[in-house]
Amino acid sequence: MSLNILIYAEDVIANAERHGNADAVRAAYPRGLHAAIADAFAGCGHTVRFSSLEDLDATLTPESLDAADVLYWWGHARHGDVPDGAAALVAEKVQAGLGFVALHSAHLAKPFKLLMGTSCTLGWRCGESERVWVAAPYHPIASGVPPYFDLPDEEMYGEPFDIPSPEDTVFIGWFSGGEVFRSGLTYKRGWGKVFYFQPGHEEYPVYCHPTVRLILRNAALWAAPAARRAETACPNMPPDRPA
Ligand code: ZN
Repeated sequence: MSLNILIYAEDVIANAERHGNADAVRAAYPRGLHAAIADAFAGCGHTVRFSSLEDLDATLTPESLDAADVLYWWGHARHGDVPDGAAALVAEKVQAGLGFVALHSAHLAKPFKLLMGTSCTLGWRCGESERVWVAAPYHPIASGVPPYFDLPDEEMYGEPFDIPSPEDTVFIGWFSGGEVFRSGLTYKRGWGKVFYFQPGHEEYPVYCHPTVRLILRNAALWAAPAARRAETACPNMPPDRPA
């Protein structure tokens, strides 16, 4: 299946230059996060396009979202700079069938919060190792993933994670500090499918890990819409009597 993938990510190197951790981020992602996430789809035959805050008006439009099958979203320091209208547009398009994959700190991204309807807050601590366990081996996103895999360096995200109960908890992360976290969660919103995936702190090359890349690829196949809602599909009006 050939898909149209749209990747929104912040410029993590520019963010890091403002916050003083540019060396670590440059070492992990010398070409930034767009390229690292896109590398997961190398050889898949998908078309990959990019969106960022700097070109949002041109790259995150009704047309670009209609043309995309799945939107990947990585944001952190600049959630607040995403216009409310853009976030509402993404949520509306997901409701109509667009697949949405929220990565790591996108738990506080405006579109994700709109789709969840909760605060989406959690606990965190930097500089731990994580063991990611497959909790739903029957799920397509876990296809080919071993029973567990280790990330030697990752930011700890801990419970409680203030989200609605998911449809499936595909992955559970255990951290060296003792915390656990629901690291891979699926939802349906309207006609659209949503996957939240916790790994991906910008100081560690998590998106270069082969199993993480497999999960990103699986997520695209799972979240791609089987059908899109037409404007007339759910009219809020008295229906005619069935014949
Ligand atoms: Zn992080």
